[in-house]
Amino acid sequence: MKNTTLIVLLGAPGSGKGTVAQYITKKYNVCYFSTGNLLRNEVKKKSDMGCKVESILGSGGLVSDDIVNEIVEKNLRGISEEYGAVVLDGYPRTKKQALMLECRYAPVPDCRVQAILLNVAPEEIISRISQRTICDSCGSAYGPSQRKTACACGGALVRRKDDEEVVVRHRLEEYEREIEPLLAYYADKLIEIDGADSLEGVAAQVEAHLRSLGIEERR
Ligand code: AMP
Repeated sequence: MKNTTLIVLLGAPGSGKGTVAQYITKKYNVCYFSTGNLLRNEVKKKSDMGCKVESILGSGGLVSDDIVNEIVEKNLRGISEEYGAVVLDGYPRTKKQALMLECRYAPVPDCRVQAILLNVAPEEIISRISQRTICDSCGSAYGPSQRKTACACGGALVRRKDDEEVVVRHRLEEYEREIEPLLAYYADKLIEIDGADSLEGVAAQVEAHLRSLGIEERR
């Protein structure tokens, strides 16, 4: 991969990272990359990795950096160079993962990393997650106002097992523990967005940033 921008989307679970990422993926020449989706696929396939991580995903804990780095390495490498950027949703989640990403891609010609933080208050997170469903095929998330019974891709809408309140609280604790070092790490390449705004409002802020980075809309 060369001549590309890696856009690191930071934010608590339920802050809208996946929704925003999928929105800009449709409109801009960017590729969507979610470690959560990749790990859930491994669980679904019952692969060796899937069996190792299933209970961790179910409890809301973080999968080890080594396993995550393995799955990232395997899947990021194959992304086509035709994309102007790759939106990373849920990776890196720890400073160790950020260092790995930097080591792997910093030497690649014209490959840069930018970070976007979606800020949403914890009470809003719990409320959003308790009402959302996700597509069991593509991972798109839907809120109650969308009144959908199936995903646009045809997949079934289901509740995520780790969206139960007790598990969400654990995921939020993990997030709080890891986010400060990550924000410090990305301080000079970070923009913050009010994630409590409407999808259109959040998307407009993200789009302004993409344009300032020279990332083009799809033709
Ligand atoms: P997500 O879909 O991003 O909310 O991720 C769902 C779950 O997958 C998380 O709660 C973690 O158990 C695991 N996971 C996803 N990405 C990572 C990562 N970068 N590091 C560690 N665990 C991860």
